[in-house]
Order: sequence, then structure tokens, then C-alpha cells
Amino acid sequence: MNIHEYQAKQLFLDYGIPVPGGKQTASPENAADITELLGGESWVVKAQVHAGGRGKAGGVKLAKSGAEVAEISKAMLGIQLITHQTDAVGLPVNQVLIEKTYPIERELYLSLLVDRTSERMIFIASAAGGMDIEAVAHETPEKIVTAKLSPIAGLQAYQCRLVAYALGLKGKQHKALEKIMQGMVDLMLAKDASQIEINPLIVTSSGELMALDAKINFDDNALALHPDILALKDPSQEDDRENIAQQFGLNYVTLEGNIGCMVNGAGLAMATMDLVKLKGGKPANFLDVGGGTNVEKVCEAFKLILSDKHVKAVLVNIFGGIVKCDVIAQGILAAVKEVHVTLPVVVRLEGTNVEEGRALLSNTGLNIYAADDLAHAAEQVVALAGEAA
Ligand code: ADP
Ligand code: MG
Repeated sequence: MNIHEYQAKQLFLDYGIPVPGGKQTASPENAADITELLGGESWVVKAQVHAGGRGKAGGVKLAKSGAEVAEISKAMLGIQLITHQTDAVGLPVNQVLIEKTYPIERELYLSLLVDRTSERMIFIASAAGGMDIEAVAHETPEKIVTAKLSPIAGLQAYQCRLVAYALGLKGKQHKALEKIMQGMVDLMLAKDASQIEINPLIVTSSGELMALDAKINFDDNALALHPDILALKDPSQEDDRENIAQQFGLNYVTLEGNIGCMVNGAGLAMATMDLVKLKGGKPANFLDVGGGTNVEKVCEAFKLILSDKHVKAVLVNIFGGIVKCDVIAQGILAAVKEVHVTLPVVVRLEGTNVEEGRALLSNTGLNIYAADDLAHAAEQVVALAGEAA
């Protein structure tokens, strides 16, 4: 799960990581009051969306007066912000963060994530911050330093010094960096974050370190342990269909093709998508309806698939292990009738009571094709989607 920059910065404060004074708002009327409250002479207005690259896309703007802050906030609130990290539709700006500006001497990069290969937490740092870290990694990998944490010893002082030297920090800045790095480690462990990124971490003209941007990702599987983090969720920043799917316990991911897929089990769903691709088609989604599926879930799954207007045909691939095939067939029939599915639906059933299940699906007068094996089903659905398109 992602959270907004202003929320991440509040967590930074809780863990002793310095951030600029700032406040978020959903209404431009408050903007001038906020600048008064914050003090200072200039401010930045920052669009709060779950994506980076805002600076280059007009989502971070400088203002020199309260009136200007209000004007910029008004123009930014309510738009869809498109950055190189969003899709072509962009993300809605429902809040802006108004922040004091700081004179920037240098922009650094610092992040903490989980390195799956070494099974350790790893710091990644670079003196070339503020820009695309992927480009730095690609073109000048020597500018990136890493430090892996021992699960027993944790973060050690020498590792902080190594990073501080690589970032060109001096004197008191070493201690300041150590405090920031330790804060990141404590935050990551306490809240089960999977990534914490500060880009840029700045050195101000008076030599202080400060997190100007903040991005935190959390491990979805640990959210049940952290109601405080879960409360920070903003569904407006996520795909509508994926939000609905979550409510019904369906694992759904929108993709770009035109063949809707309904499968039970994540592994089978992946294999099904592979096969569709192999037969020349393109899946419109990943959808795992789960092991113990029922009529209600199948109905909701159909509704989800059909709400995507790109879908031209549907492939249902269910293995009747926990649930029997005839029960699934009844569920599919009920769903096709209830949701008024007119698109061709190719169904491949396998497992317990498969004969009864197939019998139920044949000669229904509906646009349902009962396939006998998976390869054949994939070929058929690709052909049908091709005809419809
Ligand atoms: P993004 O990564 O989405 O582009 P950032 O928060 O990193 O957004 O902001 C982009 C740039 O704007 C930063 O690299 C920095 O140069 C400038 N900036 C952001 N916040 C401030 C601030 N409070 N004071 C001065 N400059 C800022
Ligand atoms: Mg940034």
C-alpha cells in the first residue's frame, strides 16, 4: 500500500527524520492561512498523488505570497495529474501540501528497501539525488553506494560513515545522517514498510539535512497488524475495479488486453494468462476468485470483468477441487443470466463432477462454449475475441 507524501512526512517526524514545516489542505480557501501559520517568505504547493515525477509534471510549484499559494492551490486541486509514473489518465489531486521552501545546497538520494536476493534490508544512496535514480543507476552506477544490514547487528555506525563519505557530508552532518538512517530503519521495522525513499534529501545552505520528499510503501500482508497505517489508505488513488475486487475478496489486476479471465488460484491464473498470450491473445486482467468460490463471487467477478469496455470475450478456467464442477457451472449460469452477459464465454472446467458440470453448460441457449481442455479453450477464446474486435 502507498500513502501520500504529507502522511509519510508525519511518520518521518515521529521517527526523528527532519522535514520542512508544512500542512495539507483540500480547499484553496485555507491556503493563505496556512502560509501565515507556517511563516517564512516563500512556499511550495505540492500535489498529493500516489506517484512521483510531480516536479517535472507541474505538480510542485513555488509561490511568493499567500495569495499566490491560494491561486496555485485552486488551479491544482481537482485536476488529474499525469506524470511519467502514472498512466495516461493520471491521478486526482484532492489535496495539496503547502510547505516552507528551503535554500538547497545539494540534492541527495537515500532509500531503504528489502533486498530479496540477500534477504536483508539495504540502504541505497547517491550524491546524484533529485533526479531519476534509475537513470543514475543505468548511466553512472559508480555514483550509487549501498549498505546491507545484518539482521543481528542492525545498522552499524561504520555503515553510516561509509554512506556519509560517499554523499560528501562533513562534520556534524555525519551524526545527522546517522539519525536519519536509524529513524528509517526503526520506522521500516515498526510499521512493516517495504520501502522508504527520500528523494531529494537536501543539504541546506546552512548545512542541515532535511527530507524534502517522502515516499513509503507498506507490505500489504502486514497491514492487518497496523490499523493506524491502514487508516491512511486513499482509494481515490487506486484503480476503481481493484478497490471493488478487494471488497469481495477477489484478487484483480487490470491489464491492457481484451480477453477477460476468471480463474481460481493465482498459479492457475498466471498459467492461463501465459497460455492466452501464447495463442496470440491479450488478457484484459488477472483475476483469482479464490479456492472456495461461490455464486456471489462468480457474479461479482463477471461484473468486474464486464465493466472493462475493452473486453471482447471471457475465459473461465476453474479447477473444481474444493468446490465441485457442477456447483461452479450453476454459478456461471446464474451469473451469466443475472449480469446479462452477451459476450462469448469460454468455460474450461476440470476436477470433481466435471461431467455434470459440462452437461449443465451445454445447450443452454446462452453464449457459452464448454471447452474440454485448456489449450483448446485458450485458442477458442482468442478466436472469438478476434471476431468480436
Ligand atoms: P517529485 O519527486 O514528485 O518530483 P519532490 O517532492 O521531489 O517531487 O519535488 C520536486 C523538486 O521540487 C525537488 O527536487 C526540489 O528541488 C523541489 N522542492 C520540493 N519541495 C521543496 C521545498 N519544500 N523547498 C524547496 N524546494 C522544494
Ligand atoms: Mg521526489
